[in-house]
Amino acid sequence: MLIKGVVFQLDADLPSEAKSLLEDFRLAVNNAVRVGLQARVTSRNALNRIAYKDFRQEHPRMYAKHLVSAFEVAGGVLKNYRRRVRKGVACKVPYVKRLMMKAENQAYKLDRESGTIDFPIKAGCHVKLNLVVSQYHRKYMDDPTLSLGSLTLFSDRVIITFRKCVPALYIPASVLSLDTNERSLDGVFVDSDSEASVSVKAEFPDVAIIQQRHHDRRRRLQKKKAHDRRTARNLCKREGTREHHRIEYRLHQVADAVLSFAEDKKSAVVLEDLTGIRYKRGKDMNRRLSLWPRRKLHSIIEYKAQWRGVPVFKVDPRNSSRKCPACGRIQDSRMGAEFVCDCGWHLDRHINASLNLLQTAISNGMAGGLRFDPGAFQHDVMMILYDPVRGARSEPNGTSCIGEVA
Ligand SMILES: [Zn+2]
Repeated sequence: MLIKGVVFQLDADLPSEAKSLLEDFRLAVNNAVRVGLQARVTSRNALNRIAYKDFRQEHPRMYAKHLVSAFEVAGGVLKNYRRRVRKGVACKVPYVKRLMMKAENQAYKLDRESGTIDFPIKAGCHVKLNLVVSQYHRKYMDDPTLSLGSLTLFSDRVIITFRKCVPALYIPASVLSLDTNERSLDGVFVDSDSEASVSVKAEFPDVAIIQQRHHDRRRRLQKKKAHDRRTARNLCKREGTREHHRIEYRLHQVADAVLSFAEDKKSAVVLEDLTGIRYKRGKDMNRRLSLWPRRKLHSIIEYKAQWRGVPVFKVDPRNSSRKCPACGRIQDSRMGAEFVCDCGWHLDRHINASLNLLQTAISNGMAGGLRFDPGAFQHDVMMILYDPVRGARSEPNGTSCIGEVA
């Protein structure tokens, strides 16, 4: 089962009944946490066994399913706490401060047409919550193959999870092989039927710029607030959260553009396996080339691909930036924008790496009976899958290429 959480805003403030329910729920969670700590249990069922009776008396009119759900939330809090204690991380006894509550799908009703939630508070008392439904939300609300999962209610918004059975992956008719770099995905698209083979590119130059900017800002904050470490820490944390949000937004756009293309062409996507890669460089270089956005991009692509049924293969990137795809020689140096080999082969360094990834995928039997001729990529046509200025490609059928001198 695949799960996707979708955030909805509410069209009005929470009714007072719902507000007091949130407070009751928080109280129940914190009580359950206390009980769980005393009894040294963390599972929802154990908490339920131990505490249900007392809780029933303390919250006599709360809807029973909400009470059980409080045990589940408390169980999660306790498990996190136990994990941290085991790891030896210093942490306080957990206490939930935020107003929130979780309800399983039997505990609420959503009218998917109008976006109205019928939410039970206690016996004989229901509230209606109206969601703000945009075009983005419609995609999920109107899709009958998606079933509703749990609902998380906050004081200003609602998260509804949609569930989907894992779709069958299509049999790829072509391959999109991508090398992941600091500022772009570069690669090749090979379709053995139509014998089309073209270099592709999806650029995200902003990501490195945002990283740099926030890094500078954090450094400045630390200097400015050197006398107050608590404030410095809080401000830096806020900077970090902002940075992640801004970068993730861009990565999602890139991933969507790449996968729309792949889905349209019934392509398999080949990526390098980034796990286990480390850079042996100085601290500064390490940060600049932080792997985080690239790993994040891969995880977004993989997740979205699963949701859409696009097959993704990860291959070992060893030597992919140093090997010559024509003669197989491995070079010592990997510098320079162009890869040049003694045998006469030369190609853009990033594209060259993606060719090597593709060859690895083929030799591992991942790409079926696909054949390709590396020589076909030595012309200068480049197809842009994503351009930060224009967004995704303007021609969704992908038949016409944007001629660009590489
Ligand atoms: Zn060569």
